[in-house]
Amino acid sequence: MCGIVGYIGKKQAAPILLEALKKLEYRGYDSAGLAVRSDGGEVNVIKTQGRLSKLCDRTQNGTAVEGTCGIGHTRWATHGEPSEENAHPHKCMDGTVTVVHNGILENYRELREKLVRNGYTFYTQTDTEVIADLLDYYYKKYKAGPVDTIARFMMRARGSYALAVLFKDCPDDIYVARKDSPMIIGAGRGEYFIASDVPAILKYTKRVYYIENGEMARIGRESVEFYNIDREPVEKHCVRVKMDENAAEKGGYEHFMIKEIHEQPKAVELTLNSYLNGEYVDFSDCKLTDKFLQTDEIVIVACGSAYHVGVVIQYVVEKLARIPVRVELASEFRYRDPVLGKNALVVAISQSGETADTLAAVREAKERGVRTLAIVNVRGSSIAREADRTIYTFAGPEIAVATTKAYSTQLAVGYLLALEWARIEGRLDDVQCAAYIEELRSLPQKIEEILQNKTPIQKFSADHPTMKDVFMIGRGIDYAICMEGALKLKEVSYVHTEAYAAGELKHGTISLIEEGTLVVGVLTQRGVSEKTASNLEEVRSRGAFIVTVAFEGDKIPVEANGAYTVPATDELFAASLIVVPLQLFAYYVSLQRGLDVDKPRNLAKSVTVE
Ligand code: GLU
Repeated sequence: MCGIVGYIGKKQAAPILLEALKKLEYRGYDSAGLAVRSDGGEVNVIKTQGRLSKLCDRTQNGTAVEGTCGIGHTRWATHGEPSEENAHPHKCMDGTVTVVHNGILENYRELREKLVRNGYTFYTQTDTEVIADLLDYYYKKYKAGPVDTIARFMMRARGSYALAVLFKDCPDDIYVARKDSPMIIGAGRGEYFIASDVPAILKYTKRVYYIENGEMARIGRESVEFYNIDREPVEKHCVRVKMDENAAEKGGYEHFMIKEIHEQPKAVELTLNSYLNGEYVDFSDCKLTDKFLQTDEIVIVACGSAYHVGVVIQYVVEKLARIPVRVELASEFRYRDPVLGKNALVVAISQSGETADTLAAVREAKERGVRTLAIVNVRGSSIAREADRTIYTFAGPEIAVATTKAYSTQLAVGYLLALEWARIEGRLDDVQCAAYIEELRSLPQKIEEILQNKTPIQKFSADHPTMKDVFMIGRGIDYAICMEGALKLKEVSYVHTEAYAAGELKHGTISLIEEGTLVVGVLTQRGVSEKTASNLEEVRSRGAFIVTVAFEGDKIPVEANGAYTVPATDELFAASLIVVPLQLFAYYVSLQRGLDVDKPRNLAKSVTVE
């Protein structure tokens, strides 16, 4: 949420800041702004409400703004409506301090009152303006310079922040600090870059410094210095990142979402191959020993689609390994004082590795002395660093706000873990394990086949432009798939969609079925297909329009208005295939409605706020 950038060097800052912000726009897009220091020392702030393109237009792609040092922001509002006024950067009253912020200052009310008592007035409703003024207050009160000022702020602030700050009196520096919101610093020749994540600056440099929680930095043109909260210097080494700049481009596709849907075969294959050694699962690169994995209670914590991965994995692990699995929404887990046995293993799933709630859940588990294992896509992210062990997925940068390939790679890791747990529990012999692995290896090709069969989905979306309510129903893993399918449709096409356990409809929801309501039935779990089919019959007789999604060759025990099939696989791995037509459906409905599929309203990726 929110993208922040900064540049200091010899080049004109504004075009670089805008270029970097474009790469971060997935993190927020309700308003954007720049603050650039001119050679005369003036800090010019330019802000616009709406998409970044408006800021580009207003500044003629940055060419109309002069200066070689600046900061920028693309916002996902938490405090204060998305307006030009509330957009960042924010200045304190007399312009001594200019700030961009990603995160939430939780005690901003109390701090705002304190500042009001000290004569400050506010022009926005944001928590960030309070940060600008509080910094100004400490700067003037203690007169001990920017590092001391920021350290005082950090001791006083509650909540999360990645901050980039310009002090009027220090024309050759940018100051930064972070706690629980991501930020990296890129090093060039005689220039430095600041960004919320690495792809934003890959065009300029691959040499990166990671700032830890609770650290600050002073960034000049020729050098950078890091400090801890006690203002003591911290020694840090530059890391060369192995990331392809073009991986975060659309590469000929119209949207990131469809590009990323198409990248799934590769991403799943890469992820599987990274942890398969012939006919065995091999997590040795992640230092995952049997001793670490051995547990009598697995608790999966995640949010959004990653939570849906957890639900699938719960079914798979319980079936194969017979270890009890609980899946919890990270945002609930952290506050509900959960009961965790000493031998429990908490598995946190997050694409960005920065999801604030999931990170907090990891910390909660660690505080209780429980082992934590993360499944994360972004290298070096906070969750990856803080969990005891991390398994990386190999999805590559995911830019579309609605996840597709990250979901699929998380599933792949989940299956491999399930096989490991089953082996450790002595429930899977080598022959059975090899058979599952062979099946897993066939998934990328099967996903590819589905991607070659998009036309019926495209046509169906075009034929049903006025859908109001949609229900997706299934049992067992099919229900878990429906949860993800329904979320995709809601996220990108704004069609009200509910996932329902098929047997649960009759306990209330069936009253919502009207003439023509679309009900998608997922029928891959053969033991319960007939049961789901009966539930589909029940809604059909109340006027619903039925579409089934199932494996090729399976008999569909219901007369449907439409049927879509995918290549068959083991029932346990059904989610990996069935999710693809559901993603495509969401994508095409969104296009049909003329919506911005990559940047749905009110959403943002990498949810770094609570
Ligand atoms: N709290 C800040 C605002 O509303 C930043 C939001 C964020 O990082 O998502 O402007």
